[in-house]
Amino acid sequence: MARIVMKFGGTSMAGTERIRNVAARVKHEVDAGNEVAVVVSAMAGETDRLVNFCREAAPLHDPKEYDVVVAAGEQVTSGLLAITLQAMGVKARSWLGWQLPIQTTDAHATARIETIDTTALIAAMSSGEVAVIPGFQGLTTDNRITTLGRGGSDTSAVAVAAAVKADRCDIYTDVDGVYTTDPRIVPRARKLAKVTYEEMLELASVGAKVLQTRSVGLAMKENVRVQVLSSFDAPTDNPIPGTLIVGDDEIGDDEMERQLITGIAHDKNEAKVTLTSVPDRPGAVASIFGPLAEANINVDMIIQNIAHATGSTDVTFTVPGAELARAIDTLEKAKNVIGFAELMHDTKVAKVSVVGVGMRSHAGVASTMFKALAQRGINVQAISTSEIKVSVLIDEDETELAVRVLHTAYGLDAEDAQ
Ligand code: ASP
Ligand code: MG
Repeated sequence: MARIVMKFGGTSMAGTERIRNVAARVKHEVDAGNEVAVVVSAMAGETDRLVNFCREAAPLHDPKEYDVVVAAGEQVTSGLLAITLQAMGVKARSWLGWQLPIQTTDAHATARIETIDTTALIAAMSSGEVAVIPGFQGLTTDNRITTLGRGGSDTSAVAVAAAVKADRCDIYTDVDGVYTTDPRIVPRARKLAKVTYEEMLELASVGAKVLQTRSVGLAMKENVRVQVLSSFDAPTDNPIPGTLIVGDDEIGDDEMERQLITGIAHDKNEAKVTLTSVPDRPGAVASIFGPLAEANINVDMIIQNIAHATGSTDVTFTVPGAELARAIDTLEKAKNVIGFAELMHDTKVAKVSVVGVGMRSHAGVASTMFKALAQRGINVQAISTSEIKVSVLIDEDETELAVRVLHTAYGLDAEDAQ
């Protein structure tokens, strides 16, 4: 017997038939003798619909009331799943965020879970009743409803799994696992049996959007074994294994040796900014990135060129595309302090990243990347690295080509096209 948390995303919960499929999967785990809690998303498209109602009601609305509205999508699906399970003869009840409660910070619309009271939950689960919990929602200490940010049900599921000390947290979604890269770009992409928390964090934050990034960080901190699997492709009583997200220690040395690179991600939502003729003196860079940090704008890649004879230098960096307008505004306002000549920007760029814990113990990962790109005439505009990642900024039109070329260069192509 195991204690498991199952999480179903919006596509899995979209409509009565699909909820029946979900209930059958839950029943299968119950029949196998497991204690089960289920965390559900709203039906696909529902949260967007609710967000739109808030915008229509007033473009600038009270985030406390926004949370009341958007948390409703998950209330509906949790009740429907409990009804469906009961109709199948499975004992079940819903536990809304405020009923447990799931206590969060008061950062409405982007709240963080602080504690989950598991008393009622564990009592219910060990009596053989399935606990159905709406994802995405929680409660402040002064009893206001909160939501956790878009995609937050993944985080709810991992938090519940940590709180009830579940043996596993199975995240059922519309893809059947985590792939070496986007299979729509590379048909020979392979499904990964295992990926480490750190790799998944890098892959998630650079654009492989299988899980909400925060849920992976939480799983790493709390050591929750997460499995990503499909709720569609497999018979209910025999799910196809998905991808396990685990600690470094669970990936054997041999496996690490074998795969230098675990995956390749791409992100087209970056924008490049260049400031020309910035004075080459101490404090110059601080005068650029200080105001950006104060404006809460995340800077990713940074390059500073060598000084010109004039004693000035060009500085190039990237910001999220959605923040570009604010970044330009912030920099223009600080123009006199920074002392740059011209501000240039370009949104037709993409970041392509190779990720793998194997590169900790191997040299030459970056040079393989640069060589492979050079052979195809792809120009690298900026570079950034971490212990387990190398990213390059390239022309957006060359994204797909770059991903394909790198997938082959690191030997990730599957033997047979799937
Ligand atoms: N329903 C919420 C959203 O669409 C939360 C989730 O599904 O994870 O963002
Ligand atoms: Mg999701």
